[in-house]
Amino acid sequence: MTQRVRLAISRPVQGACGKTGSWRVFQPRVNRDLCNACGICAMFCPDNAISENLEIDLDFCKGCGICAHECPKKAIEMVREEK
Ligand code: SF4
Ligand code: SF4
Repeated sequence: MTQRVRLAISRPVQGACGKTGSWRVFQPRVNRDLCNACGICAMFCPDNAISENLEIDLDFCKGCGICAHECPKKAIEMVREEK
């Protein structure tokens, strides 16, 4: 996969209410065969939960689906959490 430079300078941190916990309903899953490593998903993630190598930190991901909505390659699928 193509290496890219991370543009965002902030990192996800534990908020006042702690990590995301168990309330998330959907989580993003990246299809690496479709992904071109453009990094747009990481730029739009409001929790900055997507790393330089496009790993998604589920401790902080809220399952909002913005990354999936913004991905130009439709490489992110939102899948229901298994409880
Ligand atoms: S679902 Fe939302 S919080 Fe989770 S990685 Fe995507 S944009 Fe970030
Ligand atoms: S926006 Fe889509 S194509 Fe671009 S890095 Fe994210 S998952 Fe890959």
